[in-house]
Amino acid sequence: MATPDGAVAQEQTAVPEEVSRKRAALMELFARKLDRYLPESGALKPWTISEIECALERDLRELGRKVTEARIAVDPQRAPQQNRCPKCGRALMGHGTEPAHRQTIFGPLSFERAYGYCRPCGSAFSPSGQRVGLRRGLL
Ligand SMILES: [Zn+2]
Repeated sequence: MATPDGAVAQEQTAVPEEVSRKRAALMELFARKLDRYLPESGALKPWTISEIECALERDLRELGRKVTEARIAVDPQRAPQQNRCPKCGRALMGHGTEPAHRQTIFGPLSFERAYGYCRPCGSAFSPSGQRVGLRRGLL
């Protein structure tokens, strides 16, 4: 995948234990959700198709958000991995993570976004390859 600067992003492997933990939590959540519609034992809820549709839409949106958040959390390309400015190569003055939010088709996502700040360039960067704007009061 090419970044906005034309550099080619390398595929990197996520930490297997972290991926396993996220997968197990998502499988558990999915199984709990599925029990609402197709319980292995016990009575079925007396839902109409419309009620199933409404409940399923909410559940699928939640699952979509959770899978996306898990994917972002384990993505090594989003982790702060370099302390050098991708533009001029100088050491970044500040780097770390900050809470970020984004609207998606599943609803609002919350995640940690890594950032770095280069004073000579006066720019802020995110390891995901996107230049981010400085907000007043940040850094
Ligand atoms: Zn720089």
